[in-house]
Amino acid sequence: MRRPVDDAAQQRIPISGPSITDLEIRYVTEAVTTAWYADHNVFHERFERAFAAYVGRRFAVATPSCTSALHLSLAALGIGPGDEVAVPDITWIASSAPISYVGATPLFVDVDESSWCMDAASLEARVTPRTKALIVVDLYGNMPDMDAILGVAAAHGIAVIEDAAEAIGSEYKGAKAGSFGVASTFSFHGSKTLTTGEGGMLVTDDEALHERILFLRDHGRPAGDRMFWNTEVAFKYKMSSMQAALGLAQLERVEELVARKREIAGWYSSELDGWDAVTFNSEAPAVKNTYWMNTVVVDPALGVDKLALGELLSQRGIDCRPFFHPLSTLPAYAGHPDANTTLTPVSRRLSPHAINLPSGLNLTEADVRRVCDALRDAIATLGQR
Ligand SMILES: *Cc1c(COP(=O)(O)O)cnc(C)c1O
Repeated sequence: MRRPVDDAAQQRIPISGPSITDLEIRYVTEAVTTAWYADHNVFHERFERAFAAYVGRRFAVATPSCTSALHLSLAALGIGPGDEVAVPDITWIASSAPISYVGATPLFVDVDESSWCMDAASLEARVTPRTKALIVVDLYGNMPDMDAILGVAAAHGIAVIEDAAEAIGSEYKGAKAGSFGVASTFSFHGSKTLTTGEGGMLVTDDEALHERILFLRDHGRPAGDRMFWNTEVAFKYKMSSMQAALGLAQLERVEELVARKREIAGWYSSELDGWDAVTFNSEAPAVKNTYWMNTVVVDPALGVDKLALGELLSQRGIDCRPFFHPLSTLPAYAGHPDANTTLTPVSRRLSPHAINLPSGLNLTEADVRRVCDALRDAIATLGQR
């Protein structure tokens, strides 16, 4: 929600935010009024069923976050100490932190120059006999070269988990984000295209894995067994009915939300078209990109630092975010076996010069023009050519 100020041009443009209508308010009100006692699960069931149908999977399990959905996926696959899990060097740390939760070791893989998603050749070069799983990320709504990545995974017997947190509605060769690998996960954080405030979803076609996930996410209680008779120490990962109701309403509007994201990206792309100092999100012919974050990589030759660029834009009332830092360079992974690997050169070359631009669902075309004008000025100020 924007703060009301007199001069529209002076309003801060937020980095992201949802589209909430009367439908969402109606469903959440209905949930808080009725979804108790025998009906406590009604909205979860409707949301999960509709979500599974939307992405084309057999099973969907609503979770408190994408982080917990990834944790459950790894735990249910039996990944643990001694195992490596490959993950792209460019992603939010939520993609990789669950690898440590189960006691396994992340293996950082470079990204593709154009999609900014996991690069299959780097994956092939980095896997070892200890690599038991990989988490492929649909970064900023784009899709990786799934055929190539699934091919490497199959050749090495590696389980694939798809982190589709940023990519609801995206497609690769006509298949929806969330339909790749043994399990896929989504985030409904307030910044994401479809939101429940906080929340997530785990989807799979594997019946045994689904059973194991239901068991692990409810403190290790076997289905239909004696009450309070826990057979393993496990986790508690559920969302509330109010969140499920919000998610159901958002899902009924998903085509509109995705169309809006693509419309915003279209405004950016025509504003930035022909300006060779920046590279905007790509969309390969086999891909439908849903542009969760409109992003530019500034030509590294100009030497523009992403944090300085973000600061200049912030002074003009425009909220940006730095492109993800390579995970291998974060203090969180200092002392880790793969810390500061030199084997992710593309990640290291692009990341210092790239920035996410405002991408909220309430953005107007005039906002986008203002962002791009400010971006041109800021790059002219900072650039060293
Ligand atoms: C947002 C995000 C997550 C984490 O989602 P939460 O719901 O906040 O746990 C995971 N992976 C990626 C790629 C994300 O962008």
